[in-house]
Amino acid sequence: MLQPRNLTFDELGDLAAIIPGPEPVLQAMVNPIPQFGVKPRRPIIPVCEPTLSGNELKYVTEAVETNWISSAGGYIRRFEALFAEKMGTRYGVACANGTVALHLALATLGLEPGDEVIIPTFTMIATANAVTYLGARPVLVDSEPQTWNMDVTQVEAKITPRTRAITVVHTYGHPVDMAPINALAEKHGLFVLEDAAEAHGALYRGRPAGSLGDAACFSFYGNKIITTGEGGMVTTDREDVARLAWNLRDHAFSTERHFWHKFVGYNYRMTNLQAAIGLAQTEQLERFVEMRRANAAYYTQQLQQIPGVTTPPEAEWARNVFWMYGILLGPEFGLTRDELRHSLAQRGIETRTFFIPMHCQPIYFDQYRGERYPVAEDLCRRGLYLPSASNLTREDLDAVVDAIRECRAEKLDS
Ligand SMILES: *Cc1c(COP(=O)(O)O)cnc(C)c1O
Repeated sequence: MLQPRNLTFDELGDLAAIIPGPEPVLQAMVNPIPQFGVKPRRPIIPVCEPTLSGNELKYVTEAVETNWISSAGGYIRRFEALFAEKMGTRYGVACANGTVALHLALATLGLEPGDEVIIPTFTMIATANAVTYLGARPVLVDSEPQTWNMDVTQVEAKITPRTRAITVVHTYGHPVDMAPINALAEKHGLFVLEDAAEAHGALYRGRPAGSLGDAACFSFYGNKIITTGEGGMVTTDREDVARLAWNLRDHAFSTERHFWHKFVGYNYRMTNLQAAIGLAQTEQLERFVEMRRANAAYYTQQLQQIPGVTTPPEAEWARNVFWMYGILLGPEFGLTRDELRHSLAQRGIETRTFFIPMHCQPIYFDQYRGERYPVAEDLCRRGLYLPSASNLTREDLDAVVDAIRECRAEKLDS
């Protein structure tokens, strides 16, 4: 039987201090008796929810009515084509989720055990797991404080003769500074994969995330900027990568004989129902991005006045799409990150902590024992993200900002 790796705080040593406390229980807010003209606040403001306000229902209905509900059907191709076009690439390979998109893209490289893939330690677990699934080793790089992304100046020192690829992650919707990454990749013959799961619509020097390396992976999970419920896509300009990914996605059936397999393929297909939703969502991408950017601008304008709050970055060469609106708390704020999350949860406001770095994860701790990544650790210790859905109203945003002010005032008074 598979056994869990139970990492103790003793083993973690001083890293234990950055590990978030238990999840606070979200309590629905009881509104005061409504007065004339005062709109009651939503009892719970979730950290994210989808916006299904376009052709989603129409296209799904059409898929059902025409009997095309599995993984053949016109919406798959239409979704792949429109999404790839918006991401600025020639090809899109739709698949079951963002994690398998990463697995599929790396699988096209033919990685072997002992091969290495450079990734940021500050990321979601799937970035590392996709490398591990292939028997290769994730090699970690710290973040930089300006954009919270992988520190591009620390990558070259991690390149060895076994390095095959660099996976960059456009964290929380802010693109990575790609020029130095691509220059290194060219110099050392490496594949560049963008984990763009959080960055639909983000721009780097005017060019879309998803078109900045050899291939990119997107997620369409329910909390992503575009959702299909569950889903993912590999985008690429490289015909060889796209063809192989399409084939591996579908058990690697061969063209000469159907039940004849020259690769160990996967069933990572997306359904036509999901693609129907994805097409409708993609049609609205620009609007979703504008909504997120407007929400973020409002949050920043309000929150930057509060001592000890660091608002999210946007480099002058970047369009951040603020998949999640993250903030860092400093000592002047007066509450720790966990204390603020707890008080907000009591007011029906859902938040999330930042990522726990890969070198602190029970499953990866032994591989990286002794390695330290101070910027990623600091982000983990001090960061949280606030409700960030595209469809938040001005009332929702005000409720969140007011609650943060209230929590702080209460603590300072006590
Ligand atoms: C969401 C996410 C993934 C995984 O996508 P799923 O569709 O949930 O499998 C991978 N990487 C990053 C950075 C993500 O945020």
